[in-house]
Amino acid sequence: MSGRAQLMWDEAVTGYDFGPEHPMDPVRLALTRSLVGALGLDREVETVAARPAGESTLRLVHREDYIDAVKAASAEPGAADGSYGLGTVDDPAFAGMHEVSALIAGQSVGAAEAVWRGDALHAVNFAGGLHHAMPGAASGFCVYNDAALAIARLLELGAERVAYVDVDVHHGDGVQAAFWEDPRVLTVSLHEHPRTLFPQTGWPEETGADCAEGAAVNVALPAGTGDAGWVRAFHAVVPELLAEFRPQVLVTQHGADTHFEDPLAHLAVSLDAQRAVQVACHDFAHEYAGGRWVALGGGGYAVVEVVPRSWAHLVGIAAGRPVEPETVIPEGWRQEVYARTRQLGPMRMTDGRWPVSWASWEAGYDPADRVDQAVRAARRAVFPLRGLLP
Ligand SMILES: [Zn+2]
Repeated sequence: MSGRAQLMWDEAVTGYDFGPEHPMDPVRLALTRSLVGALGLDREVETVAARPAGESTLRLVHREDYIDAVKAASAEPGAADGSYGLGTVDDPAFAGMHEVSALIAGQSVGAAEAVWRGDALHAVNFAGGLHHAMPGAASGFCVYNDAALAIARLLELGAERVAYVDVDVHHGDGVQAAFWEDPRVLTVSLHEHPRTLFPQTGWPEETGADCAEGAAVNVALPAGTGDAGWVRAFHAVVPELLAEFRPQVLVTQHGADTHFEDPLAHLAVSLDAQRAVQVACHDFAHEYAGGRWVALGGGGYAVVEVVPRSWAHLVGIAAGRPVEPETVIPEGWRQEVYARTRQLGPMRMTDGRWPVSWASWEAGYDPADRVDQAVRAARRAVFPLRGLLP
């Protein structure tokens, strides 16, 4: 069975629903799952529903009083008053919130276990990637931090080096915070600059606690960054770090909200560049982590136009059957999109920006270019701490 990819999926994850006014519409998960099926990718993976994360697992990252607060808000949503970040505009309480959040976390933990034990080489949980949740608070649409929990579980199983690469448009602040003092975990986040976007952290100077200097890496990209700059920045930072760190497992977060259509952020990345970075993450898993790869979803609020296509590509790549960008999307899926959302779904698995061309860092940089300035700031802040040239 080793070598075959696992797709973590339990239909009940679509119950992660903050209500009709909230941008994180769970239809994005349902439509992703059905697009995976429409493209025939479900035949290429083993679909597994893991159990919800139990109390002892949740406590690997989260404080007991916070878990109790989530349970209380879950049982009586009307009583959530904003403490612990619960009952806020970003994170309204809803009935069953604890159960479904633990279920999503369980899929990421299950993915990590499968990869660590060799049941699968790659495992995908596109319902996961809830990277803003803090040890003691909900934040940014995230209740339990499934990404941090997956990593914590790997450490519990004996992993000594886990790399986390987060390409969501928002800083992966909760995962960084969870391992701020832990040199066994390298967290790398590429995101829109904190000056212009939630959660206002992820400055290049954030490099980890004194006991874990260089364990956190932040590439803060200017608003408006497009395909060439985004892919260039990714390659200018990530592979050198992975080559030096030699992770036993690579965990990646693939928030699709870098896209130019995303309503909540200001990068200008296409589906084709997202796919190119997914392919690179898969390659890096093989090159630097023995192939062991846990791939997660994340943000993404263009719920029809972008998210399903982006994460269907991710599943195809993990399955060893990448979907060609020119692929025409089956009409049946588009009919489902219309029936569920009254919107017209996209026609193809590309934005027409394929192939993405970008210039490598080794060929030189432009001191006046704002993307290059962001890359230089990240490299200067952290590369010397890891024994690398800035
Ligand atoms: Zn995001």
